Amino acid sequence: MSRYPDFRIDNRWIGSLRGGKVPVDPHIPYGYFNEPERMSGGRVEEVTTILLTNQECPYRCLMCDLWKHTANETVPIGAIPIQIEYALSRLSSTKHIKLYNSGSFFDRNAIPFDDYKSIASLVSTYQTVVVESHTAFIGADTLFFNELIQNRLEVAMGLETIHPDVLPRLNKRMTLSDFRHAAGFLASEGISSRAFILLQPPFMSEVEGIEWAKRSMDFAFDAGVSTCVIIPVRAGNGSIDLLAREGYFTEPGLNALEEVLSYGIGLNAGRVFADLWDLDRFSACDRCISQRRERLQQMNLQQTILPEISCSCQE
Ligand code: SF4
Ligand SMILES: [Zn+2]
Repeated sequence: MSRYPDFRIDNRWIGSLRGGKVPVDPHIPYGYFNEPERMSGGRVEEVTTILLTNQECPYRCLMCDLWKHTANETVPIGAIPIQIEYALSRLSSTKHIKLYNSGSFFDRNAIPFDDYKSIASLVSTYQTVVVESHTAFIGADTLFFNELIQNRLEVAMGLETIHPDVLPRLNKRMTLSDFRHAAGFLASEGISSRAFILLQPPFMSEVEGIEWAKRSMDFAFDAGVSTCVIIPVRAGNGSIDLLAREGYFTEPGLNALEEVLSYGIGLNAGRVFADLWDLDRFSACDRCISQRRERLQQMNLQQTILPEISCSCQE
């Protein structure tokens, strides 16, 4: 079997394999929670995350499942601030906030530009404001929003992988040069950035998945990001499931995530976090999953490589 399929992976193909969306309310965020995170200064502090309901991202990346909780239309002006108020009134107060919108904060069809001032005033007491964006949307609106919130901005961007044959097949329509340029632009404006890095995207074995996640982190830090988040790729969005059935994709195991996180922390180049959402699906052993989850959580918080958990499943 060839390493890559002979069909074209594009918007049409990815879209044709999607299932239905979850109904959303434009005035209610589809998720909100507080959780601890290690700050760049070394302290562990509570961070509020609000998963904003907004129009679906115009990109259709191969591995993305964020479209499931999105609207088909731009939400009305005023809806995003209402969502933020809704979440904040239900959470205890924190000093840091992430406004994640399943797309690009600086996409005006996603987050209406006319709402920037209201959003900025709602987050005025936070020390850090993290948003996410495709590199293509980073520019004048980013600087404008950064001014409004008085220079406390951090932008998370999907680097995904630097594998030269896999990145183009993710349909992200972003080059490494685009990423480097965006990270450099943010840094030159005093804006922090974090990179999302995929662990074992399609078309990679486990060994390759580990290797390319490490190299991708090297690239991200070299490009100027201050934080990397490792995201194990999972099935469930239609296209990834089809690639799995055809032998082009397998989900990574917990060992791979552990190895890549240890590598990243060992670089001492910035913060490195493992995304622990839905972690159990990557484990093949019920006996050690709780301890291994706890170890990864503590490594995220302490940014230290902790002793490995021993279990008969490793023998
Ligand atoms: S740019 Fe981000 S949100 Fe948009 S499709 Fe790609 S991964 Fe999903
Ligand atoms: Zn085990």
